Amino acid sequence: MSDARRKLPSVGTLLDSDAIRSLLSEHPRSVVVTAIRSAIDIARRDERGLGSPIDWGAAVSECISRLSVPSLRPLFNATGVVLHTNLGRAPLPDAAIEAVRNIASGFTNLEYDLETGTRGSRYVHCVDLLRELTGAADAIVVNNCAAALVLTLSALARGREVIVSRGELVEIGGSFRVPDIMQRSGATLVEVGTTNRTHAADYRRAITSRTGAFAKVHRSNFALTGYVAEVNVPALAAIGAEHGIPVVHDLGSGLLIELDEFGLSGEPTAQAALAAGATVVMMSGDKLLGGPQAGIAVGSRDAIGQLRNDPLARALRVDKMTVAALAATLDIYRDRDRALREIPTLAMLSASALAIGDRCQAAAAMLATNGICADVVECMSTVGAGAFPGAEIPSAAVRLSGDPETTERALRAAAVPVIGRIADDALLLDMRTVIPRDDEAFIRSVVSALA
Ligand SMILES: *Cc1c(COP(=O)(O)O)cnc(C)c1O
Repeated sequence: MSDARRKLPSVGTLLDSDAIRSLLSEHPRSVVVTAIRSAIDIARRDERGLGSPIDWGAAVSECISRLSVPSLRPLFNATGVVLHTNLGRAPLPDAAIEAVRNIASGFTNLEYDLETGTRGSRYVHCVDLLRELTGAADAIVVNNCAAALVLTLSALARGREVIVSRGELVEIGGSFRVPDIMQRSGATLVEVGTTNRTHAADYRRAITSRTGAFAKVHRSNFALTGYVAEVNVPALAAIGAEHGIPVVHDLGSGLLIELDEFGLSGEPTAQAALAAGATVVMMSGDKLLGGPQAGIAVGSRDAIGQLRNDPLARALRVDKMTVAALAATLDIYRDRDRALREIPTLAMLSASALAIGDRCQAAAAMLATNGICADVVECMSTVGAGAFPGAEIPSAAVRLSGDPETTERALRAAAVPVIGRIADDALLLDMRTVIPRDDEAFIRSVVSALA
């Protein structure tokens, strides 16, 4: 240990010093002590500064500021990936935010039946809306789609076999593998077919007295093309009907309205998936549906009843804020035009490249008046979260001049960070994923980071 390092003061010495005493009058003692430890740690690691005296008042004060920034913070998504799992997926519609505020601040009838004055069920609240919007007989909302999948298999196939195609055993990012999750339900996976081709005969051959369900898993994040074959839900449902085997369909994304007119095709809606003959369809609340994190299972009255009565349902249940946000989001879907306007995820997906280009031009002009060199380029946005894999949406981006890595770091360090993407050796800010009413704040953040 060098002499300089040995000279670092103790926490107690600093607490007694004049420089720190004033901080104690403004901040709780525990905060100051944590900041002192952090400042001493930094000084110990900083070899360069070891010779020179340290302004401990300033150093500790800076650590207090840093420690007061919450870990979870808002930021601007300018990646052009509409549903970015790392960036928190769907921003909520205003009506959902208002509903959360309204419900979170006081008591509610979450599990209380106002007609009878007795205990009610938290599972009733979104059911009518989900029935109306998907055509299902019944529905249950749990914590996320992975939870809905585990619950469905636990309720319908625990201790039995679930037959699934090898072409659908997917990994969905964050090293989350659907087959691993399925195993934990207590059901045994029986894989059939090959990676690229699975036939009706493969499913038929695998049926035994222990078969509990056929599972279909949406191919999120990738497309299978070329010499391929799969058994669609209607065909599988027909085989299931012969043997009394339910078909459970993990859709992943909860698409409730068709988006073909915006160039997005090939992803089934929840209604279509149910109409195709699935017994239970599972989906996320915060992917294409554009609501809060939630897992929704819709299906037959009998099957959903079994889900509701499964002991795991208690461990996977949603909180009142999720119920409030989801119900408010679903309510918007009763009017398709309103959904496209008011649900940020859908508004972003349906915005025209022209409109985004105009916003980029305005942003670039504002940046120029602040001395920041930028132009506007055409680019491609993507949907993200495994939905519409491979789909690209024509869009526009602000292209910042200068070294892209340096710019990227500076934008990430802003008070409200801006996350862009690097393409062709330039930093691009795709404004499709910036919420339009935030445009000014977004530009201010870029200016503060780069000016
Ligand atoms: C995204 C996805 C899931 C997981 O959904 P969460 O709501 O994040 O739990 C499950 N299955 C498929 C097919 C998915 O695409």
